[in-house]
Amino acid sequence: MKYISTRGGAAPVNFEGALLAGLAPDGGLYMPESWPRIPADEARRIGGLPYAQAATEILALFAGESFTKEELAAMTAEAYGTFTDDRVAPLVKLAPEDWMLELFHGPTLAFKDFAMQILGRLFDAALERRDRRLTIIAATSGDTGSAAIEALKSCSRVNVVVLHPEGRVSAVQQRMMTSVIAPNVMNIAVKGSFDDCQAIVKTLFADEAFVRDVRLSGVNSINWARLAAQTVYYFTAWAQIADGDEAVNFVVPTGNFGDVFAGYAAKRMGLPIAKLGVAANANDILHRAIAYGDYTPASVKPTASPSMDIQVASNFERLLFEAKNRDANALRHVMEDFAAKKGMKIDEETLIAIREDFVSDAVSMEETLAEIARHYKETGELIDPHTAVGRAAAMRLRQMGALDGKIVTLSTAHPAKFPEAVEEATGKSPALPASYADLFDRPEEMERAPADPQEVKALIRGAFGN
Ligand SMILES: *Cc1c(COP(=O)(O)O)cnc(C)c1O
Repeated sequence: MKYISTRGGAAPVNFEGALLAGLAPDGGLYMPESWPRIPADEARRIGGLPYAQAATEILALFAGESFTKEELAAMTAEAYGTFTDDRVAPLVKLAPEDWMLELFHGPTLAFKDFAMQILGRLFDAALERRDRRLTIIAATSGDTGSAAIEALKSCSRVNVVVLHPEGRVSAVQQRMMTSVIAPNVMNIAVKGSFDDCQAIVKTLFADEAFVRDVRLSGVNSINWARLAAQTVYYFTAWAQIADGDEAVNFVVPTGNFGDVFAGYAAKRMGLPIAKLGVAANANDILHRAIAYGDYTPASVKPTASPSMDIQVASNFERLLFEAKNRDANALRHVMEDFAAKKGMKIDEETLIAIREDFVSDAVSMEETLAEIARHYKETGELIDPHTAVGRAAAMRLRQMGALDGKIVTLSTAHPAKFPEAVEEATGKSPALPASYADLFDRPEEMERAPADPQEVKALIRGAFGN
């Protein structure tokens, strides 16, 4: 399988090349040259396997030329062996046609572990083979950072730099990052928003000399390997609830459009998915884009679901590429225009294509807290604010008739990762799992920087430059 850039200006690479590069050199995102096909009966077989085995089968379709099935099997066994629930991604039934897919049983209690635990192992193997080192940089709205640090801290060939917006991640999220003190780990608190952090990362990647000197690569959800890993739980969830080749809906709390794009990839691979519901919080650019064709970033509003406090959703470019029938030239113009005008009106034809697969909703802060409270009252269980955004959207989309039939809402984080919001909504404080009981007693270490790429570069060069 070869990977091509959405902007058409970079040579195709294999899976390992896309893994190590992150972003394509022309500023585009890598996409599989064609979608691997899994017919419904094969989806049922794969989706019914134990999780790690299902992951091996699906990753082999994307990575088969770079890693053998045996290598992948060893990696998936280790990666998903770090999860505390044997089912890895358990599905919980809430109502006759409603389920919640729990994606928070990994080492840092959010769904980012599904991809990152695999990514760390893929990186180690690829770098070992090439006898190389890399500096991985990630901008995080909270969960990517902790998942990346946890997965990469013991990689001997990887340095990891994580930029988070100072004061805009939850205390638990921050501690999970900054209390990992290792010579190859650097946390930088940036005075600004997640979008500022993401913009700095983009600027750093555009500096060829810097990229070469520190051997920079990325693990944000622009990295195709992450999305490939995230397609797996759509298959395992579908296989548990679908009758025959019945199509099922998924509602996904969305920020950078990575997780829901993995669902789209699963659908393109042949998994019977009816609609994908994009659930946004008050940062509703994706809802405005899908509902009204208006992809114009507003300023970022801090909410109770900080991992979705994003306006410029990197992976949306991948969807535009598909919706424009993979016309890289057209897409390059659109993205250049977007950069110049700081906004985009999506044309009718593209919008129609998008709406074949997606519906959307935006959920306010009040509605998020009300949903946490409602869910607790009805089930006695606490859910995290990101999950609550998904559930509130799922129920409203069903009510409106935008979704019907079976709906699986992705539960993307453990409630204890966001105790402030959960307590505000219910009066109950969710307990951290035992492995994190002493989190707030652990020493912290981080750098601070203004939202200025030059200052961030200087810090990274100082630590990891030649
Ligand atoms: C990252 C994250 C999201 C958003 O996922 P995207 O892939 O960025 O759309 C939602 N919920 C939680 C808890 C997250 O960590």
